[in-house]
Order: sequence, then structure tokens, then C-alpha cells
Amino acid sequence: MKYVVIGGGIAGVSCANEMLKLERAPELEVVLISSSSFVKSVENYRKVGQYGEKFDVSEADSSEIFPDQRFKFINDTVINWDAQKKDIQLQNHEKLKYDKLCIATGSRPKLQNELRADPRFLFLRDTQSAEQLKHQLGSARNVLIVGNGGIATELIYELKNVELTWLVRDSWICASFFPEDVEKFIEKRLLNGRSDGKKHDGVQKHLRYSTSSVSHPGPSGPALGPDWCSTIDFGQISQKSTNRTVKILRNCAIGNIETSGELNIEYLDRNNGTKSFLKPDLVIWAGGVTPNSEVWRKDESLKTTANGGISVNDACETSISDVYACGDVSTLTLSEVSSTLWNQRQLWTQARQLGEVCGRAMVAGAEEARMQNMYFELFSHCTTFFGLKVS
Ligand SMILES: Cc1cc2nc3c(=O)[nH]c(=O)nc-3n(C[C@H](O)[C@H](O)[C@H](O)COP(=O)(O)OP(=O)(O)OC[C@H]3O[C@@H](n4cnc5c(N)ncnc54)[C@H](O)[C@@H]3O)c2cc1C
Repeated sequence: MKYVVIGGGIAGVSCANEMLKLERAPELEVVLISSSSFVKSVENYRKVGQYGEKFDVSEADSSEIFPDQRFKFINDTVINWDAQKKDIQLQNHEKLKYDKLCIATGSRPKLQNELRADPRFLFLRDTQSAEQLKHQLGSARNVLIVGNGGIATELIYELKNVELTWLVRDSWICASFFPEDVEKFIEKRLLNGRSDGKKHDGVQKHLRYSTSSVSHPGPSGPALGPDWCSTIDFGQISQKSTNRTVKILRNCAIGNIETSGELNIEYLDRNNGTKSFLKPDLVIWAGGVTPNSEVWRKDESLKTTANGGISVNDACETSISDVYACGDVSTLTLSEVSSTLWNQRQLWTQARQLGEVCGRAMVAGAEEARMQNMYFELFSHCTTFFGLKVS
């Protein structure tokens, strides 16, 4: 039986790992294909209580993670597929047959494809873009950050010696993590920023993420994930004399973006309906992601959602038999999931769990995968902002 997994992020790696762990048959073949030359792995995994878990996250060469002889890694990009013939086509024009396919191609920041050629825009996604951030911040004085999630929040807190404008769609900052009534508490910390040290100075008690400066071909590398900013010394990057200032534009939406000549970004202030312009040196786009599903959507029998996610049920099965999807590229829609305490988020924790469910379903069947997982009952996520634990 030949199982092919596309994507070397945490979802694809967890899926491959689960298959190799569960299926002991010597004739099993697991092939992982990824545009990135390195893969994400989970190390030092341990259970905490009945449902909690702790683990470290790192990037590694595939041979370090999968010493199993039945595993093969191919560093290439899938450019087409034929679900009827059960084959995929690689950028090097080779075709590869599969018995079962797992799509774990992740997601990318919105507007990345449209604007990434312009060096005044930065889309934080993988280690390469984190390297670019260090480089581009060195010369920027006037920085616009778009987005109201964890990436934007961490950056606002960490950035030094720049004039920051933070544009958020919601009427209060950090809306995806905090209710409106704690906004003042959060705002005070963000306006002041970090005064000394860096994230996780001293003993690191939980997730660790290690960066590498490997450059790679293809769409993008695996997503950075938790603790990405603890590896960057923001104090050292920005040695300029600019005073740090933070201006917050709440309840605003980006309009027309003029990139020929001077950068001119229109935005609508929905509080009063007025349109204004911003002229930053650098725009850091942290305004959500879109699934990398274009290749797969060429087959119209594959059901997708309005946002481009591949529809899956709670065993990661898609609308095409023997084709599964997990992680950021998938959207759980076809299921009987009744819990209102679980909702899907594009997060590490969920991508890893979905990868495991997917691997189990592929080798042991959907019912087995369902019987063993508790994942769709309740979702909780713990993280830290400004040294404070948030869950
Ligand atoms: C800056 C940043 C900070 C984050 N912080 C957190 C956090 O604090 N906590 C948290 O829980 N989550 C965080 N996340 C989100 C988390 O990292 C993602 O949800 C998770 O990594 C998704 O994993 P994935 O395996 O689905 O996709 P990805 O990690 O995106 O992996 C997709 C893989 O598919 C490959 N690929 C894509 N297209 C093709 C193709 N056509 N052919 C071959 N290979 C292909 C890519 O090269 C990549 O290896 C963060 C994300 C970012 C970008």
C-alpha cells in the first residue's frame, strides 16, 4: 500500500508519523513530498493529565525524524493531480501513483501572491520571511502592521525604534484573544512595548521553536508556529535613533493599495466613514491566511468551502474516496461534530491533532480514527503575551 503525504508542516509530519507508528506491515510505503527541504517535528512529547500535552517544536531533516526504511522524502512541489488515475505530478514533471493521498499543504498569508514581489511588503509565514523581517526592519522607520491576531500583537510588543501604525478591522485590539473590557490593560502594555530582555529569556518552560536560515524552492516553507519571535533579537536589529511610537487605527479596513511609485495605502475608517492614506516604509501583513488548495481545486469533484479550504469530515476524509486532508488547508465541514465547544482555528495545536487523526484514518479506517479521538469535543489554546499566560 502506498500512502503519499503532501506537505512537510506539522500536519503532514504528524500524519506520516502516525501511519508508520500504527501500521507495522513491512510492505507499507509512506512518501512525504514537500516544497520545503526541511520538515517540522515534535520532540519531547509528554502527556500532562488526561488530555493536556507538552512538546517542543523544531525543524529537522526528514531522515532525522523518520529513520524508518519504509519512509521516503521527496523535496519537490506538486503542480497537478488526477484523482481518477490516482496520480500526482511534480514540478520536475515526474508522476507519482498513490493508493491513498493526504493533502497537508497548509496556508499562506492573504494577499501574499499578489504583493510579495514588492519589497515594501512582508508576509510572515516561514523561516525565510522571518529572516527577511530582520533585514527589512533594519532600514524601516515607519512601519504599518495590518491584522489583529497573535502575530501582530507579538510584533507590536517587541518592535523597537520604529514609528508603528497598527490597523485592525475590529473595534478593539487583540479581539481574537481578549474580550473588549480588558482592552485598556492590554493596550498599556503594547504601547509601552518590551523594555528589556526577550521572549523566554531564561528557562523556557514550554514550546520551543528553532529557526534555520535554509532557503528553499516552492511555494513556501512550513509555517513558523509558536514562539517564532523569541529567536529574533529585535533590540539588535533596530539600532536607529527613531523613537518608538504606536498609533492604533481601530475598526478600519484597507482599501486601494497603490504600489507604483511611492507606497500609498488607502483605508476606510468605519467609525466615521472617512477615507485616508498611509505612506509607510514597510507593511507587515498579518491579516489572516488562505488555504494552499489551488492545485487540488483543479478537480471540481473535490468539495471546498468559500474560503478555499478543502472540506473534510471528522476523520479527515474529503469528498473523493482515498483522498484525505488535514491542517491549515482543510476545513471541517462534512462532519457530525455537534459540540459548540470546538471550533476550527489555523493553529499548530489543531494542525498536529488533525494530522494524527488523518494518519489513523488512512491506515486503520475512519471508524477507528473516530473511536480514539477526543479532539472535537472541546478546544482550548494556551499561549503567552507580554510574559502573561493566556488561555
Ligand atoms: C508567524 C506565525 C506565527 C504563528 N504562531 C502560532 C502560535 O503561536 N500558536 C499556534 O498554535 N499557531 C501559530 N501559527 C499557526 C501555525 O504555525 C499553523 O497553523 C500550522 O503550522 C499549520 O501547519 P500545516 O502543516 O497545516 O501547514 P504548513 O506549516 O504551512 O505546512 C505546509 C507544507 O506544505 C508544503 N507545500 C505547500 N504547497 C505544496 C505543494 N504544492 N507541493 C508540495 N508541498 C507543498 C509547504 O512547503 C509546507 O512544507 C503561527 C503561524 C505563523 C505564520
